[in-house]
Amino acid sequence: MRTFLIAGNWKMNGKPSEAAELAKAMVSKWEGKTLKSEPLICPPFISVPAVAEAFKGSSFKTGAQNVHTEESGAFTGETSAAMLKDAGCTYVLAGHSERRELFHEDNELVAAKTKKAIESGLTAILCVGEKLEERKNNTHESVVADQVNSVLNILTEKNAGQLVIAYEPVWAIGTGETATPQQAQDMHAFIRGLVSEKWGENAGSSIRILYGGSMKPENAEELLSQPDVDGGLIGGASLKADSFNEIISIAESI
Ligand code: PEP
Repeated sequence: MRTFLIAGNWKMNGKPSEAAELAKAMVSKWEGKTLKSEPLICPPFISVPAVAEAFKGSSFKTGAQNVHTEESGAFTGETSAAMLKDAGCTYVLAGHSERRELFHEDNELVAAKTKKAIESGLTAILCVGEKLEERKNNTHESVVADQVNSVLNILTEKNAGQLVIAYEPVWAIGTGETATPQQAQDMHAFIRGLVSEKWGENAGSSIRILYGGSMKPENAEELLSQPDVDGGLIGGASLKADSFNEIISIAESI
């Protein structure tokens, strides 16, 4: 039996009142049912409490989209891992390509955020992926290896259960373009190999690797059917209860 992590990234969408409604609409479809997959929603910070409240008693989990490296202090506008946990998060994204691109987060900062999140008891979803020109000039594997290794180098195999890696080719995010199932599988197998190399075979085979980049009900089945794809990180299609729930149904049926 395969258990998939089906994670929604709402980005900067929806006011807290709308977030609560959407979360309730998602979870109501599964009332009284036991899910084998693990659905997760990462709303904007301000909507975390409302979403966590809507998900109480269900198999849906709540996550955040970003975290600071420090515990507390004079960091205006930032949110710590301890605060996220207290507000009901069990997961947090680190290094989403929009953070890397628009907010200039480099591998070192992303690794420090990932480490802090894990040390604080959260599960970190490390987002990695190459840009279009990097795929075209065939440097996609080395770009992703640098992104992954910068995190593996400062953690240990004991952290494997609290680390999820999301492969999100930047050219497929929000563009409607999707990696082919084979491109996704090849990169996921490559990433699993990197983890095995640094942390051993056990960690390599157990670490969860998600695919992200225009995943939707129409393409979820063939992507999730790849042997090294352990779930999805879903942007656009997580903003509607029907499409997100349909992806969960597909995950349940594989
Ligand atoms: C994302 O934001 O991580 C993402 C994959 O977005 P989309 O599904 O819209 O491409």
